[in-house]
Amino acid sequence: MLIVKDCKSIWKNCLQLIVEVVGEQSYKTWFEPIVPLALNGDVLTIQVPSHFFYEWLEEHYIGILRIAIDKELGTHGRLEYVIDQDKIDFNSKNSTNFNTVSKGNIPLSSGNKASAASENSIRSPFELKTIDRGNGFDSNLNPNYLFDNFVEGDCNRLARSAGIAITKNPGTSSFNPLMLYSAVGLGKTHLVQSIGNAIKDKHKDKVVLYVSSEKFTSQFIESSYNNRIQDFANFYMQVDVLIIDDVQFLAGKEKTQEVFFTIFNHLHQNKKQVIMTSDCPPKDLKGMQERLISRFKWGLTADLQQPDLETRKAIIHRKLQHEKIQISESVIEYLAYSVDTNVRELEGVIVSLIGQSVLNQKEIDLELAKQTLQNIVKNIESEVNIDYIQKFVSEFFHVSIELLKDKTRKREIVVARQVAMYFAKEYTNMSLKSIGSNFGNRDHSTVIHAITAVNDMMDTDRKFNATMQELIKKFKMKAV
Ligand code: ADP
Ligand code: MG
Repeated sequence: MLIVKDCKSIWKNCLQLIVEVVGEQSYKTWFEPIVPLALNGDVLTIQVPSHFFYEWLEEHYIGILRIAIDKELGTHGRLEYVIDQDKIDFNSKNSTNFNTVSKGNIPLSSGNKASAASENSIRSPFELKTIDRGNGFDSNLNPNYLFDNFVEGDCNRLARSAGIAITKNPGTSSFNPLMLYSAVGLGKTHLVQSIGNAIKDKHKDKVVLYVSSEKFTSQFIESSYNNRIQDFANFYMQVDVLIIDDVQFLAGKEKTQEVFFTIFNHLHQNKKQVIMTSDCPPKDLKGMQERLISRFKWGLTADLQQPDLETRKAIIHRKLQHEKIQISESVIEYLAYSVDTNVRELEGVIVSLIGQSVLNQKEIDLELAKQTLQNIVKNIESEVNIDYIQKFVSEFFHVSIELLKDKTRKREIVVARQVAMYFAKEYTNMSLKSIGSNFGNRDHSTVIHAITAVNDMMDTDRKFNATMQELIKKFKMKAV
């Protein structure tokens, strides 16, 4: 009886063989995306995502493909590639969209393993140079970004310690890739560069490369104009540690994402370290291919948050120490309280303050600090609202905003909650009812009770009164 073979089952059989030879990772990268399209006699047609992909298969996996086809279709079997028309083709300028690989073209070598794309495969390097390992390779790192001057706080502890762990065993820890995300100015670039610098310091033989996503994109575009995409990819595939900053800029850039995907997979499967930053968590990255996003989540994703008060003070101290400038603790406190948006802004304020002091030959005191701040920071919480009050109180009492709104009756949380309600009544025009609704839907009588309780405690408890006076002073200093 004649068994009718269809392209899907033939391809499935081929894949069973291929996966054993090339290994899981390479299989996922290079074979899973292939779609079997047709079987005409001895010719199996498969669809690949891009021309680049086709070339890669040809270069690295032709041996195993030949063996698989031989096994399934006999020695007359042929493989034809169709390049997915929907996807943009890197080399569209000079490539055909239909390629045939006849048996005669396929060398009957044994299957290449995942290591096929090793250093040996570098033919003509990108930017006219092969990476000269350990020999003056420019990592594009700023030597001033170090762990030593990166102040640790709750806001960055996880990211920082993951970074330190990576420096011990780049590539082989489970933090691969490491993906750091945060709003601007919270230390992503500083931290990833510190990791790069520390790896270079500890592992002299490792090739570390830092690149911004914009630069990566423009290099890619340039290489595609010059028909050197393969060289571009090969260049990046040689590094041991790739740090790519602000990947959100790859959004919407299909071709660049495609080559990045290829590079990423190659590095990852060869146990090379990939470190990335982004301005939002991977799942919120818009215009980014789903398959890239899912790879970003393979390792560790950590965010950097706004530094709390203590960390801000420590950052100011560090900065002043670096500039060899001394200012009074009260000015430091004032700055730390006032500028809580991000570290870059905090640094900007300090620099302006130093500038003002030199310019006017005035010592840096509270008055100068206030003046400077008024001039450069617009709208520092000038509008006192309930969110602001809750944040302020929560920071002071080290009680989270969630707990302020929660049902819990723990003594210290109740006190913080009552104080926040007191501030809301004193410093906003909100009604008792709406204050209550902002604290976990409590009713207005709870708010009255809170205000009375705070007033009573201020009258009767000296320590509490002192705390409140300090709090009110700070609140006014910052808010008004
Ligand atoms: P991002 O890349 O997240 O926008 P940067 O790394 O450029 O932020 O940080 C902005 C500035 O703040 C840099 O000058 C950096 O040195 C400084 N900075 C950020 N976080 C810290 C920190 N934890 N300790 C010391 N300096 C910091
Ligand atoms: Mg940055």
